[in-house]
Amino acid sequence: LAKENGKNSFRFYNTELHAILARKMKLEHELRRAIERSQFKLSYQPKVELRTERIIGMEALLRWEHPELGIVSPAEFIPVAEETGQIVAIGNWVLERACEQNKAWQDKGYPPLCISVNVSVRQFQHREFLMSVRSVLQRTGLSAAYLELEITESIMQNVKESTDVLHALRKMGIGVSIDDFGTGYSSLFIIPKLPIDTIKIDKSFIDDIDDRVQLSMLKTIIDLGLSLNLGVVAEGIESEHQRQVLVAHGCPVGQGYLYSRPVSPEAFEEMLSAARAAGTGSNTCPDIAN
Ligand code: C2E
Ligand code: MG
Ligand code: MG
Ligand code: MG
Repeated sequence: LAKENGKNSFRFYNTELHAILARKMKLEHELRRAIERSQFKLSYQPKVELRTERIIGMEALLRWEHPELGIVSPAEFIPVAEETGQIVAIGNWVLERACEQNKAWQDKGYPPLCISVNVSVRQFQHREFLMSVRSVLQRTGLSAAYLELEITESIMQNVKESTDVLHALRKMGIGVSIDDFGTGYSSLFIIPKLPIDTIKIDKSFIDDIDDRVQLSMLKTIIDLGLSLNLGVVAEGIESEHQRQVLVAHGCPVGQGYLYSRPVSPEAFEEMLSAARAAGTGSNTCPDIAN
């Protein structure tokens, strides 16, 4: 009987594994035509000054709507696109669309805001990355001061090369933020050495804000950022309680469902409109402000 069970569970794993691989191959295949078939869209989530709740920027987040697969989460397809290299073309599309949108809002007379765009490691390390960024700014006419790139700690696998690219971006006037900070393997001590502008603290610290140890790490990261004159952003704020703890510990900026989920460009523009009517627009990037 045991033997039979073993055999069954082997067959089960085999089927599971097969399903996972089949899904991955399907995504890979479908990703190839997603751009030309206009299946990608960007959503925008506001970044908010925590004390005043003013919108001071936004993050562009990629959405994939496939006619048959439905909405595929970036958490699922970005890693596939990274692996196959498709992320380079997809990343360029995102960058162009986000800059174009931000420029369009500025041209409509909304107070200029900084747009944050996620950049994956493979895209960042591509030899034509700097050239693509430069040409996107040229084509869209967006000033570099209103673009921030979010990268993760994993670029530190190549410290030397990555630092050179960071310096070049900074020279162009583009802001750089370390996303999901605290989840990777790099140490706190690397932060003062990096030419970056902002630390974005990972949502897990905000989720566990009532845990004594997590809170003390959160405080350490905030203090480090502030003492280096970096922007500090908390991601994934969902409750008023979390907001208050963050404010009490000096965290200047945040983002999360408490304020808004990522929304369509039309819905984001309505928020801009409302902010303008209330006279609460802002014209600085968190990093430019200090
Ligand atoms: P991320 O850059 O850390 O983005 C934050 C994620 O947290 C987003 O998920 C956002 O919708 C979600 N989020 C924001 N506030 C809250 C909150 O209060 N509660 C909860 N539960 N979630 C919140 P999303 O849009 O599914 O994106 C997941 C990840 O996929 C992103 O994490 C980023 O790493 C990647 N990604 C998204 N768009 C792009 C892109 O254009 N390029 C690249 N390379 N990666 C992208
Ligand atoms: Mg991000
Ligand atoms: Mg993040
Ligand atoms: Mg994250």
